[in-house]
Amino acid sequence: MGSEAAALLEAADFAAGKHKGQRRKDPEGTPFINHPIAVARILAQEAGVTDTVVLQAALLHDTVEDTDTTLAEIEARFGAEVRRVVAEVTDDKGLPAAERKRLQIERAPGSSARARLVKLADKLHNLRDLNRCTPAGWSPERVQEYFRWAAQVVAGLRGTSPPLEAALQRLFEERGVAPGPAPPGP
Ligand code: NDP
Ligand code: ZN
Repeated sequence: MGSEAAALLEAADFAAGKHKGQRRKDPEGTPFINHPIAVARILAQEAGVTDTVVLQAALLHDTVEDTDTTLAEIEARFGAEVRRVVAEVTDDKGLPAAERKRLQIERAPGSSARARLVKLADKLHNLRDLNRCTPAGWSPERVQEYFRWAAQVVAGLRGTSPPLEAALQRLFEERGVAPGPAPPGP
């Protein structure tokens, strides 16, 4: 087996172990690992990404935020480049939710090229999931608010991947959510 395929399977297996037992917010309670796998698949299939660092970071992107995984552990297993991308896409859970959301908008334009790709694919998959079915307890207004916020984050990621941005744009148009103005560059 090629070493890149092996590296991807290593990341998929690591993430599966870390997210074991976690579920998504959809009413069926889809296993959480379906999400990072889908994000990596979007990058490979829809954005044409072949950079193994990006695909590994996509598979690992929620491990530090949502499990006991540390960035040091990511670096020891997958190297400094993967660690850097995962760090960039990890929210500080010590901050209040509204502040985390504000920081995502503020930091999007200054992100690295690799992190921008993971951020776009992550938003695309979450929005597709919300279109597929509404999480238990979410009002239509809350779903709409999520689309509006995602549009502001994505506005700061322009010029990263035409196919992913076009797919996101279509979802925002269907919702009548105008993408926010492009924030000033880094
Ligand atoms: P979010 O509102 O941020 O939930 C969305 C996140 O959950 C996604 O970014 C995704 O993150 C993850 N997720 C898991 N399952 C799904 C799924 N099926 N579809 C889409 N995303 C999924 O979560 P919080 O609980 O942290 O909410 C906090 C924020 O929500 C506050 O800022 C508050 O403003 C707002 N809020 C609004 C309310 C309203 O009625 N308008 C009510 C309550 C809160 P990942 O990719 O990391 O897995
Ligand atoms: Zn995610």
